[in-house]
Amino acid sequence: QALHQGGGQVHSYSELLDESIQRRMQVEKELLVALDEGQLQVFLQSQVDMNGRVAGAEALVRWKHPVKGLITPGDFIPVAESCGLIVPLGDWMMEQVCLLLNDPRVQAQGCGLSVNVSTVQFRQPQFVDKVRDVLQRTGAPAQQLTLEVTESLLLNDVEGTIRKMVALRALGVQFALDDFGTGYSSLAYLMRLPIQEIKLDQAFIHDLAPMSEHSVLVQALLMVASSKDLRVVAEGVEQAAQAELLQAWEPSILCQGYLFSRPVLAQDWLLNPQLGMTS
Ligand code: C2E
Ligand code: MG
Ligand code: MG
Ligand code: MG
Repeated sequence: QALHQGGGQVHSYSELLDESIQRRMQVEKELLVALDEGQLQVFLQSQVDMNGRVAGAEALVRWKHPVKGLITPGDFIPVAESCGLIVPLGDWMMEQVCLLLNDPRVQAQGCGLSVNVSTVQFRQPQFVDKVRDVLQRTGAPAQQLTLEVTESLLLNDVEGTIRKMVALRALGVQFALDDFGTGYSSLAYLMRLPIQEIKLDQAFIHDLAPMSEHSVLVQALLMVASSKDLRVVAEGVEQAAQAELLQAWEPSILCQGYLFSRPVLAQDWLLNPQLGMTS
């Protein structure tokens, strides 16, 4: 079948498919080199309470490509997940975050650090052992480490997933449910997971005008969270008005977003965790 015809060029579906497969294979090949040669970097984005104190930060991976420059995770995490490289990438991130937790400046600030854990990574049979090992090896305070997981964990083997989370909780780590509200799981189902925090997805934060669909939903979710004693982090807070509303609804909420700070290179964040803060 001809998809596009112009200038005498005809691209068939299979040619286009080949192209996208080739692009993925290229990313895969380069990502292997990146892991080997230390091209990945840890960025941190602050999470701020209503008094402007930095209570924590989320670790976000960046790829400093020798030719293409800084690449954000949207362009390589999906490839890494489908080819399995997310496992060494995730191991590396976890180790880096544990090392950061030991930094005296993080200790002085008394804040926690969060790291994203892909469902592929979580599903490894030896994941619990790996987390135990990295905590032991680095001596990091487990209580200050939060693993961000998504509801795709619930797609299969719910009982096994819960058992594994309970085993990880026994090591002292905490769990946050990332991108909360964007999936299809029922709230009752989600609440079976042993989590300590929910992260409201930025899709809900954009429009919080009074009585808007999102504002009603966010207030309902805040009530559920408070009844379960869950910490709440709002993602993608860009405007002061958004932060003010959220803090009025839930004074203990933490805000993460460009209003307070963009993600910055971990080493720079350590020099000044308040970096980029407006207040
Ligand atoms: P996420 O875990 O939901 O992370 C939040 C994303 O929102 C980050 O994008 C962050 O830069 C962005 N963000 C924060 N505040 C604002 C804001 O005010 N406005 C806007 N427009 N965006 C904001 P980033 O760093 O590009 O990461 C995208 C996703 O890639 C993450 O979403 C996470 O799912 C994944 N990811 C990042 N690092 C890792 C990692 O080390 N491992 C795994 N498995 N996934 C990762
Ligand atoms: Mg996250
Ligand atoms: Mg998120
Ligand atoms: Mg996400």
